[in-house]
Amino acid sequence: MSRSGRMAPRAASPISAAGPAAGTSPTAPANGERTIDKSDILGHIEGWYQLLRDAVDAADPSSIVATEAWDLEPLETWVSGRVVLIGDAAHATTPFASMGACMTIQDSASLVEHLGSDASVEDALAAFVSERKQRDEAVVRESRRMGHLSQMHSPIATWLRDEAFSHTPGRRAAGQRRVSRSAPAAQPQ
Ligand SMILES: Cc1cc2nc3c(=O)[nH]c(=O)nc-3n(C[C@H](O)[C@H](O)[C@H](O)COP(=O)(O)OP(=O)(O)OC[C@H]3O[C@@H](n4cnc5c(N)ncnc54)[C@H](O)[C@@H]3O)c2cc1C
Repeated sequence: MSRSGRMAPRAASPISAAGPAAGTSPTAPANGERTIDKSDILGHIEGWYQLLRDAVDAADPSSIVATEAWDLEPLETWVSGRVVLIGDAAHATTPFASMGACMTIQDSASLVEHLGSDASVEDALAAFVSERKQRDEAVVRESRRMGHLSQMHSPIATWLRDEAFSHTPGRRAAGQRRVSRSAPAAQPQ
């Protein structure tokens, strides 16, 4: 795979330089591990659910890992001969659309359906990719967009965003969710 380069990922995209912990102050010691001070996190989630604050408060500081949310630019193909990628390996996404595991399950159902048909393995894999790739990659883009929206820092931009969301009719928001969550036509037998 890597020799042909056909399935090698292009540059992955970070959702934010500061990642999900934006607003806190990660430090980078010499060993490369990133640590975050508990009080920074508590400051960031001030006014959030008490349960979440209690969980942070109770956490062993050495167990807190600062990490970033990344997604994958679309791969040229998911297939090499009789080998196929599904799930995060094919379309790793940021968690903002809450769809990574769902897409993986949908991929699995679709793959089972196609491999169970009378088609050759090669044709079944091609049909699987044609059914899933565009759709999964649209969700990755949507999740990235939601990540950018949810991590704005400018007070004016966040005010505008919150106002827009609060005036979005419920039906329209539900429609957007339907687009990103639509299930594959294929069902496992
Ligand atoms: C913070 C966060 C929140 C999320 N929230 C949601 C959500 O609300 N809803 C949702 O649908 N999705 C969510 N996701 C995404 C979801 O967790 C992933 O999309 C999903 O787990 C991908 O499944 P997968 O089987 O493709 O990969 P994984 O679950 O990553 O499984 C791959 C497995 O392969 C193993 N492995 C790796 N390399 C090797 C190797 N060389 N040899 C043997 N084993 C190996 C790994 O240990 C791992 O167990 C979230 C993800 C994150 C990080």
